[in-house]
Amino acid sequence: MKGVIYREFSGRPELERLSDPASRSDGVVLKVMASGVCLSDWHGWKGNDPDIKLPHVPGHELAGIVEAVGEKVSNWQVGDRVTVPFVGGCGRCPECESGNHQVCDFQFQAGFTHWGTFAEYVAIHYADVNLVRLPDEMEFTTAQRTKSLMQSGISRMVVRRFRLKR
Ligand SMILES: [Zn+2]
Ligand SMILES: [Zn+2]
Repeated sequence: MKGVIYREFSGRPELERLSDPASRSDGVVLKVMASGVCLSDWHGWKGNDPDIKLPHVPGHELAGIVEAVGEKVSNWQVGDRVTVPFVGGCGRCPECESGNHQVCDFQFQAGFTHWGTFAEYVAIHYADVNLVRLPDEMEFTTAQRTKSLMQSGISRMVVRRFRLKR
């Protein structure tokens, strides 16, 4: 696939040919149809986010189509139109069971803990727990922008502070 990658913090992002992501047994691979950029991506690129390991493909605001499905995923099929929350909880730990996915210790965040959405494809873990179906009539760019408004960089910084305080 083609994707945007940086190899050092504050370094120039380059469009390169990268290996295609594979879906984990509990995850999916999405074909990225829309991807936004926001302040959290900038903080990550500046090196302010300890979850990011180099080299890195940024991007976390997306809308896409399910392209491949792991064998343990039961709720999603190839072709489904989806988006994902800012923080993907594992769905199984005590924090997730109490509804606090945002402080799950095993959380998945495309563009932070793993490669993100500035690429043709992105792997998303914990698909049954986290994928959100898009209404048929909603365009991908509308969905991506809605996600951006609800889940801005500010929310990530608040979450980050909250996690650090615990
Ligand atoms: Zn969890
Ligand atoms: Zn954002």
